[in-house]
Amino acid sequence: MEAEFYSLQKIRKLSEEAVKDPESFWKDKMHLISWFKEPEKIREGEPPFEKWFVNGYTNISYNAIDRHLDKSEKVAFYWINEKLDTRSITYRDLYCEVNRASYVLKELGVKKGDVVSLIMPSIPEAVYMSLAVHRLGATLVIHYLGLSEETLTYRLNDCNSRVLIVASKGFRNGNEIRIKDFVDKLLDSRKTPIEKVLVVKRGYDDFNVTKRDVIYEEVRPRGRVYVEPIWVESNEPSTIYYTSGTTGRPKGLYHSTAGYVIALNYAFKSLMGPKENDIWWTISELGWPVWPMANLYTIPFMGLTGVLFEGYIGYKPDMFSRIIERFGVNLVWSSTTTLYTLKSLGEESVKSGDTSTLRLILNTGEPLNPGAWKWLRENMPHVTIADAYWMTEHLFPVAGTPFGIGEIPYKAGSAGIRFPGSDFRVVDDDGKELQVGKKGYIVLKPISPALAKMHNDTNGERIIKTYWSRFPGYFYTGDYGYMDEDGYLYVLGRADDVIKSGERIGTLEVESVVVTHPAVAEAAVVGYPKEVGEGILVLAVIKKGYPMSEDLANDIKSYLRNSGYIVDKVYLVRRLPKTKSGKIMRRLIRALVRNEEIGDISTLDDPSILEELKSILSEKD
Ligand code: ATP
Ligand code: MG
Repeated sequence: MEAEFYSLQKIRKLSEEAVKDPESFWKDKMHLISWFKEPEKIREGEPPFEKWFVNGYTNISYNAIDRHLDKSEKVAFYWINEKLDTRSITYRDLYCEVNRASYVLKELGVKKGDVVSLIMPSIPEAVYMSLAVHRLGATLVIHYLGLSEETLTYRLNDCNSRVLIVASKGFRNGNEIRIKDFVDKLLDSRKTPIEKVLVVKRGYDDFNVTKRDVIYEEVRPRGRVYVEPIWVESNEPSTIYYTSGTTGRPKGLYHSTAGYVIALNYAFKSLMGPKENDIWWTISELGWPVWPMANLYTIPFMGLTGVLFEGYIGYKPDMFSRIIERFGVNLVWSSTTTLYTLKSLGEESVKSGDTSTLRLILNTGEPLNPGAWKWLRENMPHVTIADAYWMTEHLFPVAGTPFGIGEIPYKAGSAGIRFPGSDFRVVDDDGKELQVGKKGYIVLKPISPALAKMHNDTNGERIIKTYWSRFPGYFYTGDYGYMDEDGYLYVLGRADDVIKSGERIGTLEVESVVVTHPAVAEAAVVGYPKEVGEGILVLAVIKKGYPMSEDLANDIKSYLRNSGYIVDKVYLVRRLPKTKSGKIMRRLIRALVRNEEIGDISTLDDPSILEELKSILSEKD
């Protein structure tokens, strides 16, 4: 499994070759998965309507389980919760349980072309059920725990799901989440296509059983069963994801079966260089693509061992390092917000348990500010911090640090270099390519099989309008940034959030400075209209132990002035508005200070923050 090791120069060459001849580049990666029938053609057509690995047939669950019968005693997953209770699941268990779950889903009539929805916490059964959906060739949609009734109803209808798989309950941050009760209430009062609910019980349970329910424990075959995997054409949908909703209403996207997983497996080999016996923990909620990307489409594909954590990393300050120690975790893939949480919890978070086995932490979700990077390096000097910049629409890194295949320098604040197999540009308002060092819009010339199609968009009108019309010929990422003389990409924030104060300022530029103030754990910066141009408004999350005082706000203001940023307003807060995937929703703050429509808040993690923000922002001027 160990890959060859390249110099930065060689990686650049690899990347150039991929740009020149994407088909040969990806043909070479085709055998990262097993095929029932190999494709007849590598690529056909042009993005966004191209097809990859045409007329090839494969099955996701076959790749994840049947291929590993020779290592049946190896642990496929460890599960752990906030109380540090654990379970371990071998590859044999995984094989047997996926087959059992497939049998039950087949009995429920699930077949190729169907869309199956799932709402569960991070437990082994979520892996069994998801892979079982794929075994039958159906399309999987994982919904967040805790979406509002309205949002979930919309999504169930949008996907046209007939079957919903749930766990009766889940646990997070010391709270019990009664999933089954919530779903009952929704299905009893709203119109959805759901006909059957498959319920996985969590120990002793006291939920109601309705006519639509099938209790998994009651129908789960006792003995061994084998369900034939259904072979699926490369371009048929495997899964539907909704974007995070950071910049607007979430968009539903679907990914292919073969191209998507091939690109993912190559991405992780390059990013992390996983070794045969590595233990890999992905810290993410289930509804975010990160969880399935690791736990369904990579860890079992490569035959590695994964860690499933049911809970919230900030529940106890020592949680992170205790879990690393418990399993001897080698690789962590984490959302940016989780890394910020560790920093705000302080040294205890990374020093309570022994983290000496940990080699690498991969960041995804937002630009990792240099202060957080420095803190992680100082407190865990043996750990490499890696980065991958990608998006739900293109689940292959646009830029990243391919430490798994090469020796490249890390630059704090940057997402990394052009990833071999990707091709990005930075352009001005007119779509003209900008020189090195100039800030502009990040666009993509997609050359990987990881570009999603839009859901419910048969003639492609929506995908063109949403992503290809702003800069014709390019896929527009919606992000703002620049590239340096070594080809490193710096994502400075969302283009919608850019502040027009004299020059254009990306939100990360100011936020990176605010968080180096000793009292500040995290920050969000937005522009607000002034008579001429825009002013800068800062929301600073204050660490515990510091007073929320006028003096502190003034101190932060002068601290920023000394760093070259004239800031008009500084508000001290305890938390920021975030999406369920943990991203700061600056558009909400912007709308509130401008008295504009709030817009879509279907993925706002805790809507009670709206009132909180309103009252803070009206405190003073
Ligand atoms: P929406 O599209 O609904 O507004 P979203 O863009 O947050 O939400 P995702 O697809 O989850 O939805 O996130 C992709 C975005 O996340 C990227 O466009 C980029 O802004 C940001 N991002 C992801 N990873 C990184 C990273 N490593 N460095 C910088 N930014 C990142
Ligand atoms: Mg987006």
